[in-house]
Order: sequence, then structure tokens, then C-alpha cells
Amino acid sequence: MAEAVIFLGPPGAGKGTQAKRLASEMGFKQLSTGDILRSHVARGTELGKLAKPIMDAGKLVPDEIILGLIGEELAAMPDPKVIFDGFPRTLAQAEALDRLLQERKIRLLGVLLVTAPEDELVKRLLGRAQQEGRSDDNEETIRARMVEYLHKTQPLVDYYAKTGSLKEINGLGKVDEVYRAIQEALGVNA
Ligand code: AMP
Repeated sequence: MAEAVIFLGPPGAGKGTQAKRLASEMGFKQLSTGDILRSHVARGTELGKLAKPIMDAGKLVPDEIILGLIGEELAAMPDPKVIFDGFPRTLAQAEALDRLLQERKIRLLGVLLVTAPEDELVKRLLGRAQQEGRSDDNEETIRARMVEYLHKTQPLVDYYAKTGSLKEINGLGKVDEVYRAIQEALGVNA
């Protein structure tokens, strides 16, 4: 059966790490819009050229572009089993995703809201800047990304809380502890 999980949460909460592990253990495909965009930037595609300055400014890439990418990915999957990581990030994206899930008869297993205190998030992102060299992991861009999150993505918490899909996960613990909390929230076995 077609199924999906959504990872929601501020930058630095650990969504990517957890989504990757969950996807591999559940046999799902991880769809990270950030990773897809970075791959376009690295390959120097037209989309990459358009997205890079927006990403470097810590702003959100326009909804139409993101929805185009997601539409393409889903269209290529006959029986989607997907972990959405970093998508949706705006109300318009969430509404469009609802329609897609309905059309494709994809069951939403849960929306995992992974959170941590802001000073911890900033500390992690600055640490990652040194390890991975992501050009949007500098102090100024991090601040802009937090603002975008608060204004545009945080409203999705209410949106999914109303549908009963939201599951809050404390992202502050060790990677394994956070993962266990995610398994529990989804009711999948360790
Ligand atoms: P991430 O790797 O999820 O932190 O995303 C890195 C950057 O890619 C974000 O700061 C945005 O500029 C862009 N991005 C990723 N996913 C989305 C999305 N769903 N909507 C708009 N912009 C996105």
C-alpha cells in the first residue's frame, strides 16, 4: 500500500539524519527537497542557478518549483512509499501535498515534528558548517532560515495538529534515542 511520513521541524533539528535512517529501515524512499535542490546547484542546472542565491539567503524557494520537483518524483513511483524530509514548508505546499496524497491514494502514517531549543539548533548548524561546508550554514543565513521557519513553516504545526496526524518528537537527545521515539510515535517495530 502507498504510504508516506512527513518530517517537520526547524533547521538543525535532525530531520535529515532521522529521515534517512527511517527510510532505509522501512524500505521507503527519502525525498529531501533540500538534497534535490543541492544536487541541482552542484550540477549547475537552470533550476540550480535559480535556487542557489535563494538558498544562500536562507529564504524559501518558490512553491511552484518545489511542487514541480515533488510531482516529478511521485509520478516516477508506481507504488509510493515516501519519507518527506523538509517538505512541505508552506501552507500552499501542504495543501498541494494533501491533494497529491488523495489522488494517489497514499496513506499518511504521521507528521513527525522534531524540535529542539533554538540555541541548540544554531550550535548544531554551525558545527555542521565546519564538517559539511554547506554554504547556507553560516550565522547570517541560519538566522534568516529560522525566521522563514517561524513565519512560513510553523503554521503547518497547527494545520497537521487539526488533522490528528501530528506527533511531537523531542530532538534534543542522542540520535538513537530520538530514533526510538520516532518508531514509537509511528508504531513501527524496533
Ligand atoms: P534543507 O536542506 O531542508 O534545510 O533546505 C535547504 C534550503 O533549500 C532551504 O533553506 C530552502 O532555501 C530550500 N528548500 C528546501 N526545501 C524547501 C521547500 N520545501 N520549500 C522551499 N524551499 C525549500
